[in-house]
Amino acid sequence: MGLHNFGTSGGVEAVEMFGDLPIKNWQLGSWKEQAKKIAGQTMQPKYLHAHYACNACPIRCAKIYKIPGGDHIGHGPEYESIAMLGANCLNDDPEYLVQANHACDVYGMDVMSTGHSIAFAIEAFERGILTEKDTGGLKLEWGGPTVVKLIPLIARREGIGGLLAHGVRKAAEIIGKGAKELAVEVKGLEIAGHDPRGHVSMSLNYATAARGGCHLEGLTYFLDRGVTAPDFGYMTPLDPHVSDDKPPVVFTMQNYLSVFNPLGLCKFLFPGRVGPKIVASWQKAVCGWDSDMDEVMAAGERIFNLKRLFNVRQGISRKDDVLPPRMVVGKPDGKAKGVVADLAGMLPKYYELRGWNDSGIPTRERLEKLGIASYAP
Ligand code: SF4
Repeated sequence: MGLHNFGTSGGVEAVEMFGDLPIKNWQLGSWKEQAKKIAGQTMQPKYLHAHYACNACPIRCAKIYKIPGGDHIGHGPEYESIAMLGANCLNDDPEYLVQANHACDVYGMDVMSTGHSIAFAIEAFERGILTEKDTGGLKLEWGGPTVVKLIPLIARREGIGGLLAHGVRKAAEIIGKGAKELAVEVKGLEIAGHDPRGHVSMSLNYATAARGGCHLEGLTYFLDRGVTAPDFGYMTPLDPHVSDDKPPVVFTMQNYLSVFNPLGLCKFLFPGRVGPKIVASWQKAVCGWDSDMDEVMAAGERIFNLKRLFNVRQGISRKDDVLPPRMVVGKPDGKAKGVVADLAGMLPKYYELRGWNDSGIPTRERLEKLGIASYAP
């Protein structure tokens, strides 16, 4: 019912409670009262215009909001907008948040990378790495006003917006002066709004996902929160702060999501216990393929390896399967206080499960087993 009523914005307070919410460019671990102010449950009575859904979906997780300051309506902020344009920028003002989310929609900008870039810039300004000389006289401060001011500048690549439009990796390279320490990205993609210290399995996910800091290639944090996956035998919540047992979990979930995603299946089917057995039966119904769970998972492993092979051709290897500096420092408070994932311990076990060598390159032996040896590097 939470998704039905509030969409993903209804989960903000729970995410904060888990120590999973990015706060102040990923520096803080607790923001309880403020999170409540920008949760869907609080914003919706004031701004909701209508609910809507993908074709025939009974969940209808999408919400249309009335946008403050005019008669127009637009998409209401979902969890990632709230996390990145809200908490990560210390913006707890619903009015600014709804406006910022709408502006990103209108300009066609990703709310996650945009929020990251703004939080990065504010922190850089606070630390004197960026100055008013760089910003054209703008004072960058934590909170909503700076967020709504920077979005159009980024969209038009005007002034400081031209720098931030590159994303945090490139912006940090251009700025120098230690700005890399503030850039929270993997392989150039700003990480999603799920803190790999709140759910350590996400460290391995982010480090090895083909796109970089993408949460949708693994979704392992679902399993820490009590979502069960009977086909894989995950029936009780996993410990979100323990690293040792996570390599097989990440291996399995990445393989499954590698099939789940290209089939265009909504992620919220997963909490509904749609596992590979059901996917196999759907494939049979739609395509006539007589597959089973093992074949679905083998297809997923093939797809994951093909993506890795593409990346290997582009020069990606173990040196790139890393976390940004901020993620190897524990948070000062909240449920995940002091937690840091043991990525160095997880990576060799993960490579072994994948049949990749010590450099993170798929071995010919594994590629032959998967029937894709012709793509071997
Ligand atoms: S299919 Fe998924 S994304 Fe679409 S309305 Fe339903 S729950 Fe939301």
